[in-house]
Amino acid sequence: MVFNTSIRYADDELRIDEVDIESIVREVGTPAYIYSLPRIRENFQRLRSAFAPLNARLHFSVKANGNLDVLRALSDAGAGFDCVSGGEIYRALRAGAAAEAIVFAGVGKTRAELAYAITNGVGWINAENIGELDHIDDIAAERGAKPVLVALRLNPEVTAGAHPYMATGHGAAKFGLTAEVVRDVLSNGARYPNIDFAGLHMHIGSQLSEASATLSALEKLLALAIDYPQIRAINVGGGLPVAYRFGEKVAPPDRLASELARRLDGYDVLLEPGRAIVADAGLLVAKVLYLKRQAGHNFAIVDASMAEMIRPALYGAHHEIAPLRRTEGETVSTQVVGPVCESADVLGRDRQLPPLEPGDKVALLTAGAYGMTMASNYNARRRPAEVIVDGDRWWVSRRRETFEDLLKFER
Ligand SMILES: *Cc1c(COP(=O)(O)O)cnc(C)c1O
Repeated sequence: MVFNTSIRYADDELRIDEVDIESIVREVGTPAYIYSLPRIRENFQRLRSAFAPLNARLHFSVKANGNLDVLRALSDAGAGFDCVSGGEIYRALRAGAAAEAIVFAGVGKTRAELAYAITNGVGWINAENIGELDHIDDIAAERGAKPVLVALRLNPEVTAGAHPYMATGHGAAKFGLTAEVVRDVLSNGARYPNIDFAGLHMHIGSQLSEASATLSALEKLLALAIDYPQIRAINVGGGLPVAYRFGEKVAPPDRLASELARRLDGYDVLLEPGRAIVADAGLLVAKVLYLKRQAGHNFAIVDASMAEMIRPALYGAHHEIAPLRRTEGETVSTQVVGPVCESADVLGRDRQLPPLEPGDKVALLTAGAYGMTMASNYNARRRPAEVIVDGDRWWVSRRRETFEDLLKFER
């Protein structure tokens, strides 16, 4: 069975690229995140070719996966980065990104973060508060920096996204600026002599399965842009969907790309894909600790939890679960749960899995996006190791945290 070009069973063993996953976790332990660099590069190239007719610049959304080796590989492949905090800018720079290839977004950037971004010379700031424009203008004046490129983020009042928590473009969301405010700023740009209002930005949500929502948001954005000749760049945001379920089909990016190409002629185009580049390149391996049969259910208690992977608890997200060693024969409905003291700590409900035994290992698939970046130390759990696989080579990119790490910041 083949999940994608990097993750598949061979001789009934789950492999990632040329490496048997069991052989990795035998050394590294569980739980552990494992990412395939070839798959990440392939996903990036697929998007790059799809959006080549627009000559679009792709800025990988660092909040999806901030691992330095992942960022380095994407930077080497020609990606820019979309950062939503000073910490993410720091990560991207440490991974070797050129500052001009960074766009800085976010609904609550502090003055210190803006100063850090401007001092380092980031390419764009996506602004979504009037107050931050004052900060940007001040800081640029103070540093004698050249005018800062700013893209105003429009709230297009379009509802889209796979879950209410993934919808950012509706009128009641905290994100973006209303069309009225955007017009006011663009008409009075002279108030901010150190800002070059050369772009407009939107990001209406994540896991967008319909191009139509993006296109109707874009229509509103373009209706605005046309009145302001200073707008030369349009940033369409991220949100490209991925398949989380076996057999699920998601629209390839090509259709969206050609729809965008027809509308964005004459503009510099930027995109901020996160999930679509890294999600299916990663998995989270867990070990079965105990089994119990209770209230008519078969529970498999594993050593990964909502602390390592919060998406099922936070969004009701579905991640397929695959045993590292495939067996033929009957399956049983299994509740795959973690050790954390929360009823929400369920990684998979009613999964048809072969009968598991303590010590067996399973992989949560499509876990490369919003997995480790959302991991916490809840229940004083140590965040897991991150392993990189590149063809037949693999290495620990980030070691598992230790007990001492847990106390590092306390006196
Ligand atoms: C989260 C985010 C993205 C990336 O979204 P994906 O669904 O991972 O593609 C892009 N842009 C902004 C502003 C974001 O907040």
